[in-house]
Amino acid sequence: MHVDAQPCPDCGTLFDLPDNYCRHCGMYLAALKATLPAPVPERAVVTSRPGMPAPMRKAATALAIGTALQVGVTLAGKYLASQAARGASEAVQSAQPPARRRVERRQPDPRSNAPRR
Ligand SMILES: [Zn+2]
Repeated sequence: MHVDAQPCPDCGTLFDLPDNYCRHCGMYLAALKATLPAPVPERAVVTSRPGMPAPMRKAATALAIGTALQVGVTLAGKYLASQAARGASEAVQSAQPPARRRVERRQPDPRSNAPRR
C-alpha cells in the first residue's frame, strides 16, 4: 500500500513519490513534487527582508506609507478636483435661474420701473 501515492495531474494514475515520471503517461513529476510537499507560505512574501535592521525597516515602511499616501492624495486630489468642478458647474447652473426670477419679479413692480429724471 502506497500511503504517499499521488494521482498524476495529467492522466490520474497514482504514482509513488520517489518516481520522477508518471509510469502511465510519462509526465515529469519531479517538478510537481517540489511544489506539492512544501507550499510557499504567504508570509514569506510580506517579510521579504527579515535580516533588515529595525530603523531601515521603519524607513522602508514609512516610504511605503508615504508612497501610498501620495497615491491616495493624488487620487483624492483628482476626486476633489472633479467634485469641485462638478460642484462649480452645478452652482453656476443653479445660481442662474433664481437671478432671473429676481429680475422677473422686479419688472412687474411699477415703482422700480419708474423713471427718475
Ligand atoms: Zn500520468
